[in-house]
Amino acid sequence: MTGTVQGVGFRPYVYRLAGELGLAGYVLNDDRGVLLEAEGAAAAVDSFLERLGPEAPPLATVEQVSSEEVAPSGGPPDDGAPSFQIAASRRGGQPLALVSPDIATCAACLSEMADPADRRYRYPFTNCTDCGPRFTIVRGVPYDRPLTTMSGFEMCALCRAEYEDPADRRFHAQPNACPSCGPVLMLLGSGGEPVASGDPLAAAARALREGALLAIKGLGGYHLACHAGDEGATSALRSRKHREDKPFALMAADLAVARELVELTAEEERLLVGRERPIVIARRRPGAPVSDSVAPGSPDLGVMLAYTPLHHLLLAEAATTLVMTSGNVSDEPIAYHDRDAADRLAPIADLVLTHDRPIHVRADDSVVRSLGAVREAPLMLRRSRGYAPASIALPVEAPRAVLACGAELKSTFCLARGARAWVSHHIGDLKNYETLRSFEEGVAHFERLFAVAPEVVVHDLHPDYLSTRYALAREDVEAIGVQHHHAHLAACLAEHGETGPAVGAIYDGTGYGEDGTVWGGELLFGDLASFERAGSVMAVPMPGGERAVLEPWRMACSWLVAAGGDLPPLPQLLADSVAPERWEQVAALARSGFASPPTSSMGRLFDAVSALCGLRATVTYEGQAAIELEAAAGTAPEGEPYPLAVGEDPSGLVLDARETVAAVARDAAGGVPTALVSARFHAAVAVATAEACARIAEARGTGLVVLSGGVFNNRLLVERVAALLGERGLRVLLPELLPAGDGGISYGQAAAAAARLSA
Ligand SMILES: [Zn+2]
Ligand SMILES: [Zn+2]
Repeated sequence: MTGTVQGVGFRPYVYRLAGELGLAGYVLNDDRGVLLEAEGAAAAVDSFLERLGPEAPPLATVEQVSSEEVAPSGGPPDDGAPSFQIAASRRGGQPLALVSPDIATCAACLSEMADPADRRYRYPFTNCTDCGPRFTIVRGVPYDRPLTTMSGFEMCALCRAEYEDPADRRFHAQPNACPSCGPVLMLLGSGGEPVASGDPLAAAARALREGALLAIKGLGGYHLACHAGDEGATSALRSRKHREDKPFALMAADLAVARELVELTAEEERLLVGRERPIVIARRRPGAPVSDSVAPGSPDLGVMLAYTPLHHLLLAEAATTLVMTSGNVSDEPIAYHDRDAADRLAPIADLVLTHDRPIHVRADDSVVRSLGAVREAPLMLRRSRGYAPASIALPVEAPRAVLACGAELKSTFCLARGARAWVSHHIGDLKNYETLRSFEEGVAHFERLFAVAPEVVVHDLHPDYLSTRYALAREDVEAIGVQHHHAHLAACLAEHGETGPAVGAIYDGTGYGEDGTVWGGELLFGDLASFERAGSVMAVPMPGGERAVLEPWRMACSWLVAAGGDLPPLPQLLADSVAPERWEQVAALARSGFASPPTSSMGRLFDAVSALCGLRATVTYEGQAAIELEAAAGTAPEGEPYPLAVGEDPSGLVLDARETVAAVARDAAGGVPTALVSARFHAAVAVATAEACARIAEARGTGLVVLSGGVFNNRLLVERVAALLGERGLRVLLPELLPAGDGGISYGQAAAAAARLSA
């Protein structure tokens, strides 16, 4: 029996079922999953097989049951009572058992922690078979205590008895622990010295209430935390972390507290309390008790609920909502090793709340955003803790084992074999040595965990991505390149079990095109294996290349030059941020094309419009200008779309945004409210996109349209485009299990490679 069947209470469940039906035999964990033998009356064995899958525990996913008849082992023992045993795990051969994601603390554990008479009263590492750390503590398979980071903790007699009692909730709960035998909490000063404080939890909570910044060791890494309503603390956190604008996530004690912070739909509430416990991005409630510097310029807040016993205890004790942002400085990966945290976080935190259970795999908090009107399932902005490493099916089996290396920003990697793909936790921006090392370690760990020895490596076409270089440096494997936007298309098709063909509107910031130019506003027609470029946003120069990504005003200038101004006057709204001679220099670059690679990027068009509205001349993180442009539309009445022509040239359809940009510039300069300008621009892109997709769909004879790429994290845009395509009778697919952004690329690469290898 294979699937996620280890560490989820599967063997005790089998034990109880066999007992109920009077069967003898055994069950054990092996490298492939669960192996069992049952012996007894024919009717009882049949009933056992029938009930085995459907009645499995909630966290188990049974993927395959294979059975065969074996000779009876000699009948019941002498006392006449059949016996069924849970036998020792077996190792050897190829590990295939699936490791479960980490799971939020269950209700039963919470009530024990709240009970003064219970031996786990206020114990911050309480867990059971239904909850607790999994993926982040596993060093190898099979999933048994010696191969986890709990191996150094010897269970006390009471814990051991629970662990060995098939009737107990903690039967074979690998991280099982209690105050007398398990991990302990420690409070350290910023120099790493223990703080003599009595109860570390109470002292940490007191410090948070008084405005201190704490580094807190969690499940998949460290957080930096402070009182969310304390402006002094939150702005100090911003400056010490060198994070200027990107919103901080919040952690609330429970749903009632979350409801005071944000407006929640039923679906968003379901996500918040779900066992994955992601950060849910939702509309901020007026008067929410949160200081301004938590999410400057954003109408939304990112909120999650406590998901470990430590969080529950700390939030109850501190009696306030906390900022819980990833424990890093600037864009580095989050710290998860204690030594690393001491080096990097202690200098910026006043205190460090830590413990002695090691974290083996770093896992950031996952982030989702509800899609409101479009569909129930949210958009996955970051898929990591709580979701990884659950496997995702492939519609076309990979005939050989595949490693897909992903893109560069927000990167993940993916291993695939047969019909199954494992997408990694969020690795981050593969631009520095730290992240590259964590990428390489992650690949090696996944190869061991899932027993996949890649014979094929898949990479982006961009020759300079570190992921591409890594792929090409691997020896004894075949390398396959998959174009960036095709990978987005393939990922969305494949996660829905589709193979295409389909039209894909794939909009993002940057992706290396087949012609060597920078793509990013692409209309593709293709299936899993191949594609054609059926159209794109009109290409304009990116003055100064990559610099234009962090300086959206450059794209505003370039688009105005394209729109007909040889030397467009510097818009009044940009006059405070851009010196006139800089504007002229950049306009000259745009005219000549010198140091200005052409780009068809939709993300850069959003940047240009954001700059022209005076929202963002420069940004501190990619996508910021577009995010603020969407936010600016707010609840403005739907505007008449600006003109945005869908033209045609020999290479295909062209979304010609020159008139659009000219109209935006005119209105913004004329004092039209930004909300209305933004709404009219969004409407223009939506109408043109739907028109272009419909034309390609009709010409190619398909009724299926995929919308993906990071620009489609924009809810306003998704809602409009999906509605317009629906009105035309086209079926729309959006990413659901994986991000629309580059976190989904590795899976798309794997799906494309599987299809090509099977062709
Ligand atoms: Zn539990
Ligand atoms: Zn114990």
